[in-house]
Amino acid sequence: MNNSRRKFIKISALGIGGAAVTASSYNLFGANSYMEELGQENTIDILKTTPTYCEVCFWKCAAWTHTNQKGEIKKIIGNDNDPHCYGRLCPRGTGGVGMYDDEDRLKTPLIRKTVNGEETFVEATWDEAFTLIAAKMKGIKDNYGAESMALLKHGSPGSHFEHLFKAFGSETIGEPAYAQCRGPRETGFGLTFGSWVGSPEPTDIRDTKCLVLIGAHIGENMHNSQVQEMSAAIDNGATIITVDPRLSTAASKSTHWLAIKPATDIALLLSWMHVIIKEELYDKAYVKKYGLGFEELKKHVQQFSPEWAYGITTIKPAEIRETARKMAKAAPSVIIHPGRHVTWYGDDSQRARAVAMLNGLLGAWGRRGGFYFKEKIKVPTYPHPKFPHPKWSWKEIGEKYPMAQMGITNELVKASIPSNNPKYPIKAWLVAGTNLPNTIPNKKEVIEAMDALEFMVVVDTMPMEITGYADVVLPECTYLERYDGIRSATNREPSIALRMPAVKPKYNTKPAWWIAKNIAEKLGLGDYFNYDDFEEVIAWQLEKMGTSLEEMQKIGVKNFPRKSGSMYMDEDKTHEFGTSSGKIEFYSQELKDLGFDPIPVYTAHEEPAPGYYRLNYGRSPMHTFSRTANNPNLSDLKSENDLWVNPKVARIMELRSGQEVWLENQEGIVSSFPIKVRVTERIRWDSVYMVHGFGHNNKKLSRAFGKGASDTELITKVNIDPLMGGTGMRGNFVKIITENPKIS
Ligand code: SF4
Repeated sequence: MNNSRRKFIKISALGIGGAAVTASSYNLFGANSYMEELGQENTIDILKTTPTYCEVCFWKCAAWTHTNQKGEIKKIIGNDNDPHCYGRLCPRGTGGVGMYDDEDRLKTPLIRKTVNGEETFVEATWDEAFTLIAAKMKGIKDNYGAESMALLKHGSPGSHFEHLFKAFGSETIGEPAYAQCRGPRETGFGLTFGSWVGSPEPTDIRDTKCLVLIGAHIGENMHNSQVQEMSAAIDNGATIITVDPRLSTAASKSTHWLAIKPATDIALLLSWMHVIIKEELYDKAYVKKYGLGFEELKKHVQQFSPEWAYGITTIKPAEIRETARKMAKAAPSVIIHPGRHVTWYGDDSQRARAVAMLNGLLGAWGRRGGFYFKEKIKVPTYPHPKFPHPKWSWKEIGEKYPMAQMGITNELVKASIPSNNPKYPIKAWLVAGTNLPNTIPNKKEVIEAMDALEFMVVVDTMPMEITGYADVVLPECTYLERYDGIRSATNREPSIALRMPAVKPKYNTKPAWWIAKNIAEKLGLGDYFNYDDFEEVIAWQLEKMGTSLEEMQKIGVKNFPRKSGSMYMDEDKTHEFGTSSGKIEFYSQELKDLGFDPIPVYTAHEEPAPGYYRLNYGRSPMHTFSRTANNPNLSDLKSENDLWVNPKVARIMELRSGQEVWLENQEGIVSSFPIKVRVTERIRWDSVYMVHGFGHNNKKLSRAFGKGASDTELITKVNIDPLMGGTGMRGNFVKIITENPKIS
């Protein structure tokens, strides 16, 4: 960062002087005592219950926050009527109170200033912060157009800022949940079935007879209702087939664990289709009625025998055949799970398409035990003036990716670097709830972009690394202290859930709706936020939906009857798919016309050089991305990640469990912090594995700083998906260094 316009500031110096909270709440809710307390009958306190939905991850389980008469949060438990959680929160959801208790939270607005020749943060009033933000936003609009102001967001707060940006005249908006996570599967399933998978995924796991997890980790990613349904499916005798280079928790519960060579999934998927078609195990009536391009697919997969796939995937032909037959036997009550984080090798939309096509061959879409037809209820829009029409937006920035349907964060980053001569230049960012240096690969480029910006605002609850690059830092209160939009998600039956404050915001923190509204008012856009309190908006919306705030405060979750008909296909009628042909497209003319493969093909990916291992990363049930690493309850349960190393490699390198090592990637980037080795047969010899989200380098995260290693830091090679712009991040390799590189 020499000669940098914007110097990284570790939030400290003159800033963030708010009084540290006493340790009592931490001790009280420290994970072990907290968990014990959950099991005890509380006979002393009379607890008040307030509805919320969990913000620790995106599953948004509805819950009750229990507070005592002193207004202290005692526990959070699941809402029995919620289809996202069936009354049970996962370990990290029950630890959500740690977000509220964390004494490292951002406490008051901060503005970057130069004091005695040094850049630092100084505390500011909200009004000072809003005045500065509005002046800078107006300046960007006058000089370049409102479109040059970009919003990068994640989670519930994002919708309030999206509203602000649209009122301001900018739709230059992106979120890592698309290009760094599930975008490719939406493209692959959209091209095949004409429908996005969405969240929660419409997988009918509770009634399935065969669940195939190919790079999906139900359990470690804690998709709550899916975990519970998978457990029920296992009890009911369902076959579970897990394809993973690592013996994940799901793999350990499976009938078959296929320890595939990384980067070869498409070969396996093509081979499965080969077996199913060759042995005529596919759903003939369904494929005849709904399939388009089956003959082309049949011809295409003819060559991809299990023997061919064995040489690529290392999975034995007999096992490929046996698992294909088991899927077909269970069909149509079979699910080849679409996965979630699927940005791996750059051909990810095609990989997702192969998953979708296999489901299509087996007749799983619209069938019990396969994929049900989801339904949600629309939350009415609170009246506001019409948004202005921007001259350009995320669409133009991502125009070279014809299938992109949301802003591509990495393209927004590139458009923020002047030396790229962007056609649609971005000059300023507002970042809400996403720690971009730990989220978007190629950290160097993210930092270069931030450095070039004329202005940057970060809204967060915690002093994540990104706050150090901001001009203004705005402290948001946690989900337990605020109203947010009504949760309405697709499911078997439509449901809504209410989030309301259980306690007052701690410190000088505020909810996102209030921050967005106040910035709008400073910009003269107050008409777009025509209410005093967001509670009014929710009350108005609930009335329109046939309920009321009073009712929702009592029940938390309301389930509505379906209006779109049965969850499953009516076999006597003909279903119309959402593709342009109205059919399941095994062959895509649309892709062909755009110059892409109309049916997925397997392409070999780069191999690691001698001495290097494939860097695989994943999730822990205790943590969500990098955002929970400092949570006092959750860091008690898991405070750092470790490096899974196969015993064969450990023997050659004389490594032992617990030993600290450093990692160096193919471009010579060395991990900032060491990571402890875990010698285990559960990982292939050609790969190492670590949980994502550790290795924080901001000292203000007192529990997370320096704990474990950051995978994102080592992901510098990115393979971009040519269809939708997603960042394939699994093509990175590391070697293991046993001596501290900072000393030698
Ligand atoms: S799955 Fe767990 S962390 Fe995610 S929303 Fe549900 S309870 Fe919260």
